[in-house]
Amino acid sequence: MKRWFRVFIISVFAIAAVSLVVIQFFQTRRTFSINDNMFNVGVSNAMDEVISQLNGNSAGTEEASTAFNYKELDSLIVEELLLNGIDMHPDVGLYDGTQGSFLYSTDSRNENNLEESPYRYNFQPAGVVSGNQIYIILGFPKTELFLQRNSWLYTYMSLFLILIIAVMFIISLRTLAIQRKLDQMKTEFINNMTHEIKTPLATIGLACEMLQDDSVSQDNDTRRNFISIISDENQRLRVLVETILQSAKMSNKNFKINCKEVDIHPLIERATQSFKLTLANRGGSIETHLDANPSTLFADELHLSNLIFNLVDNGIKYSTDAPRIVISTAIEDNRMVLRVQDHGIGISKEDQKHVFEKFYRVSTGNIHNVKGFGIGLNYVSEVVRLHHGTISLESELGQGTTFTVSLPL
Ligand code: ADP
Repeated sequence: MKRWFRVFIISVFAIAAVSLVVIQFFQTRRTFSINDNMFNVGVSNAMDEVISQLNGNSAGTEEASTAFNYKELDSLIVEELLLNGIDMHPDVGLYDGTQGSFLYSTDSRNENNLEESPYRYNFQPAGVVSGNQIYIILGFPKTELFLQRNSWLYTYMSLFLILIIAVMFIISLRTLAIQRKLDQMKTEFINNMTHEIKTPLATIGLACEMLQDDSVSQDNDTRRNFISIISDENQRLRVLVETILQSAKMSNKNFKINCKEVDIHPLIERATQSFKLTLANRGGSIETHLDANPSTLFADELHLSNLIFNLVDNGIKYSTDAPRIVISTAIEDNRMVLRVQDHGIGISKEDQKHVFEKFYRVSTGNIHNVKGFGIGLNYVSEVVRLHHGTISLESELGQGTTFTVSLPL
């Protein structure tokens, strides 16, 4: 996805989301006001019904005048409110407007507030001194809460849904970005692989041509030199293909290593041997301190050998001057410890956190013209993990790097 298109999509989404929130806000305010009106109408209808029922009950008879029951008034009001969709128990008071006092109230401590309530209704109960102005007053202390609960519930739900949409949108964008990165990596991987395979093939082809030339092949030293070139390049190709194949195989959860007793020192000697020519060409050297005793451990020979080869190969690849590699082994805390040290370009603290990730290459990786796939160290760390070992690195930019592998015996 092109950058401008991504910016466009994010902007459209942001505008849409903000508009949605604003619309929701006004909608809520409207609902609030409608609810308010509906509430007032509901209370009014309920009280009309209450008063008409009370008047009907007490109509005409003298006995009825003493029979006015305040408790009945409460329950009748609650009942009628419920019938009008209002599930509340208001404070109720019977107020004598002429005397300025309450004849009855459900909560005598709250009479001052009740007197202020706008919900007052004219009523003349039988048995009460006539000529006085009597009102039924209702107090809804939780009115606001009731109204808000009704309308804000929808707002909270909408905001919650908007939040879910936003989170999903961010996840989709991230997935797209990862997809793009993977695409880029794939292209880089194919380009690098082509380069890495073509170079040794060309070298081998050239060496073979030279060997076919009688004047060259007569001379034993020259012939041996060309054969060793072919052998080195062959070994390089083998490890390259092996690393890619094994790395792909290791992605499978059921992958298992094939362990047996292995002497690590001959594996190191073999790796050192195969880099001899490359090092000679670049004026470099390999030093070994093989102090581990015993030097055997229970490991997969093929993968252990590839691990050593990868670490030494990196040490040489990432040295600008004549590469100086030091390989050492030791037994520490009953574990086999292998160290591969170079005096190359080093790895920054930030990159050190990522070098073991698959396909990760230090961004300056192509500046020093070293091609690679970014799978070598990932493969190495996988091999170490499968052997229940640990790997760590110490590095200083411009000073060099030391990889330390510790494996159980
Ligand atoms: P590749 O060498 O194929 O790029 P690796 O997985 O072997 O992939 O290494 C990942 C990155 O770590 C490399 O791109 C390189 O920048 C850095 N790196 C690895 N080994 C060394 C080293 N010995 N010295 C400096 N940088 C290294």
